Order: sequence, then C-alpha cells, then structure tokens
Amino acid sequence: MASKVVIVGGGVIGSSVAYFLRATDPSVEVTVIERDPTYARSSSALSAASIRQQFSTPLSVRMSLYGIEFLRSIGGRLEVDGERPSIDLHEGGYLFLATARGEATLRENHALQRELSADISLLDTPQLRSRFPWLNTEDLAAGAFGESGEGWFDGYGLVTALRRKARALGARYVASDVIGLECSGRHVTGVRASNGETYACDVVVNAAGAWSRSIAAMLGIDLPVYARRRSIFNVSSPARLDACPLLIDPSGVYFRPEGRTWICGTSPAADNDPDDLPLDEVDHALFDDVIWPTLAHRVPQFEALRVERSWSGYYEYNVLDHNAIIGYHPDIDNCVFANGFSGHGLQQGPATGRGVSELILDGKYSTLDLSSLNWARVLEGRPIVEKNVV
Ligand SMILES: Cc1cc2nc3c(=O)[nH]c(=O)nc-3n(C[C@H](O)[C@H](O)[C@H](O)COP(=O)(O)OP(=O)(O)OC[C@H]3O[C@@H](n4cnc5c(N)ncnc54)[C@H](O)[C@@H]3O)c2cc1C
Repeated sequence: MASKVVIVGGGVIGSSVAYFLRATDPSVEVTVIERDPTYARSSSALSAASIRQQFSTPLSVRMSLYGIEFLRSIGGRLEVDGERPSIDLHEGGYLFLATARGEATLRENHALQRELSADISLLDTPQLRSRFPWLNTEDLAAGAFGESGEGWFDGYGLVTALRRKARALGARYVASDVIGLECSGRHVTGVRASNGETYACDVVVNAAGAWSRSIAAMLGIDLPVYARRRSIFNVSSPARLDACPLLIDPSGVYFRPEGRTWICGTSPAADNDPDDLPLDEVDHALFDDVIWPTLAHRVPQFEALRVERSWSGYYEYNVLDHNAIIGYHPDIDNCVFANGFSGHGLQQGPATGRGVSELILDGKYSTLDLSSLNWARVLEGRPIVEKNVV
C-alpha cells in the first residue's frame, strides 16, 4: 500500500495525478516536486489548449471523452473555498479536412469516433461550403466536424486549478529541481532535490514532460520521449469567419480563434525536427514558407494578416508511436511513468491523473483501462500509432 507518493513535475499530468490521489485517498501523502512554479517553460502553459475526439485509436477517443466531461464540470470539481475555477471552455469544434487522397482515412476515423459516441459529423463539400462559406473547398473531398465536445480552453488555467485543488486537499508542492533518484535494488527509496532534501517515497511518478527522459535515465531506463519544439503564431486579420472551428488543413497546418484573433501552427517536416531546440526562439521560416501560404489558400480572407506574437513549447514526443507511455516499468517496482503525450497531453490530463491514481492505490485500472499504453509495447517494439497527430 502506497502511503508516500512523490511526483516529479507539477504540470497538467503531475497535478492531475496529485489531485486524484488526494481526492480518492486523503491518507496518502503526496509531494509534487516542480522546479518552476511559474510554468514558464512547461508544455502545459505553452500549448494550443484544445480538445478533440477526432483521434484514430479507441483509447485516445475515450480519454478525450472523459477529458471534456471533466472540463465541463471543472467549476464544481475543483472549487476551493467557494471559488469555482473558470477555464473559458469554448466548444467550437474541430474541422478535419481531407483531399480525395485522405478521404478514406477520414471516413475510417469517423466511423470509429461515431461508434464510441463522439459527436462528429462527416460533411461533403457542399455541406462544408454551406456551414463555412469562407472556406476554399476546391481541392477538398470531405471534412469531419465536432458538433460538440471539442474546442479550446485556458490551458494554464486548467493546471493552476488542478494544483490549487490538489493543495487544498493536502498535496504538498516543493519548488526544486529533481537531481537524482535513490534506489535499493529494484526499488526507488527517495527523490533527491537541488534544495538538499531527499524525499522518501513508496511510489515515484515521472511526470516531467519533455524532460522525462532524463528522469528515466536516473534509473537506467531508456524512455523514447524527446523534446521537440513547436511554435505557435498569434495573428490578427480583418477576416470575418463566422462559426470558426479549430481547422486542420490536409497539410497539417491548423488555426483556431483566440478572442478576436487566431492562433496557428504546424509541425515541421520529420527530417527537420531535431531535439531540444531553444525555447526562446520561434521558427519564423515555417510561418512564412508553410503556414501563411496554406492559410491564404484555405481561407482567402487570410491574404491579409499580421503576426502579433509567437512562442514555442516542447511536444514531449514519443518517437515510437506518438502515444503516451503510462504505467510501471518491469525493471523497477515502484516508478510510474506518464510521459510522451506527443501534443495531446493537456486533454488527456484528467484521464491520466485518474488512471495513474487507480494504478497506485488499487494496483489496477477501475474506470478506463489504460493498460494498452504500458511499457510492454515499447519494449516489444509494437507501436500503437496515432495517425491524427497535429
Ligand atoms: C505548441 C504546443 C501545442 C500543444 N497543443 C495541445 C493541445 O491543443 N491540446 C492538448 O491536449 N495538448 C497540447 N499540447 C501538448 C500538451 O501541452 C502536453 O502534452 C502536456 O502539457 C504535457 O503535460 P506534462 O505535465 O507532462 O508536461 P509539462 O506541462 O511540461 O510539465 C512537466 C513539468 O515537469 C517539470 N520538471 C521537469 N523536469 C524536472 C525536474 N528534474 N525537477 C522538477 N521539475 C521538473 C517542468 O518544470 C514542468 O513544469 C501542446 C504542446 C505544445 C508545445
């Protein structure tokens, strides 16, 4: 029975685990060691903060179905002293677009999503034109649109609400850098921090996001998760786009409303995506060469736009299959990993926090079974590929 849990990293994953542990079993001592309480470099604070059901694997769809349920009810769940957090959830939908080449995959994914009760409509081009008259559909064959349950919210607000509630329930947050893990055989006995303290643990959770590979290395474990920089551009334009969703172009370029402006981005080409690029730089060439031409083609009104600001964050990128790795490693008895979300960890935070808490407290999942995301597939080289990585 775990009575002391130490969590490395207090972003959405670490704070969600802390919240669910304390909410479920107040006798468990929970310590979260987070080196940066401002979250200035944390992915959770730098993301596009959006949620969708349009994934290609059943478990990802189910995790996000729970994610939206959690976000919709966050005011009551995470209320502290009568204050109900608001994360400004807009269920504006995702619109995945496909050319003739991608249509079969879009239809296949849509069938799976519908089977799992996700509220997604498949639209042909006349329907696309009628619902989104500002869209250029000349090269499109179809689109899949989230009628409800998909949209965007305040990601930083989610993390701070989870942290505040976890603390109110008795979790302790320590502002320090984890610099070592002390082991006795297959057992982690303590977590060493740069403040000079060693925190004794029955279970340690690696929730260190894009830095989780270095925490795994402290145990001699090779975690295939790397820090891959992604830039977001906030643009203004005189364009008027009624009922604008989060649109995913067939090229992978995305944009969505952000107040009266828009944010947009895309992933760089796979052969030009090195690890650990500096976060204080932004890939302006990607905007000029790829994003802007794509936006102007898809939405002619975007011919006129201006970049107002931009920033970069890290995807904690699982190079095996772009899906999270969640669970114990077979060589270590008491370290739970929750890493490698590859661009969809914010929305999977609630399902992950609940699942990891169950795994620690009960030794098994009792709600949503996350066991297919465990280490076995990594060690056996059996990817569960998520096709819809945005
Ligand atoms: C540009 C961009 C857009 C994204 N868009 C979306 C989106 O629309 N929807 C979505 O669901 N997801 C999105 N994501 C992904 C999402 O942000 C991440 O998957 C998620 O935030 C990961 O959460 P985390 O808690 O694991 O990582 P983080 O939020 O990075 O938290 C990890 C924490 O660990 C701390 N830490 C690391 N090492 C140590 C150490 N040694 N000692 C102490 N503390 C340590 C760090 O300071 C950090 O705060 C996006 C990411 C980026 C970069």
